[in-house]
Amino acid sequence: ASEKEAALAATPSDSPTIFDKIISKEIPSTVVFEDDKVLAFRDITPQGPVHILLIPKVRDGLTGLSKAEERHIDILGRLLYTAKLVAKQEGLDEGFRIVINDGPQGCQSVYHIHVHLIGGRQMNWPPG
Ligand code: ADP
Repeated sequence: ASEKEAALAATPSDSPTIFDKIISKEIPSTVVFEDDKVLAFRDITPQGPVHILLIPKVRDGLTGLSKAEERHIDILGRLLYTAKLVAKQEGLDEGFRIVINDGPQGCQSVYHIHVHLIGGRQMNWPPG
């Protein structure tokens, strides 16, 4: 299924997602950065030479950005700051794209907030 079809088929919910199994290492992933709060791993369907997902290790109700509360401010900042560190680690010195898809119209398919870091090619605007 296309990303769009997957997103439209996904039901926004609080159910566990595939990312829980990635955090617990039940499902293998290529981890590029990890600390006590954040996990960053390569997207299985890369949209560029570099495509990394950054997620909080504890979801704490943050299924998507639209569910953010004040208590999430620290982790939201940490996700973006970590994206910058990983971009540097990946050698994306000419720039990169950060994306957070939210809800069906935003093409979100996994309801555990994640930041896409995409780079290594020229991006276009507007996005699809
Ligand atoms: P979309 O599927 O439209 O990109 P999201 O923004 O919710 O929607 O992104 C979920 C991302 O998770 C997708 O880019 C998908 O390729 C990625 N993904 C799904 N399963 C895995 C997995 N097992 N390992 C790595 N990435 C995964």
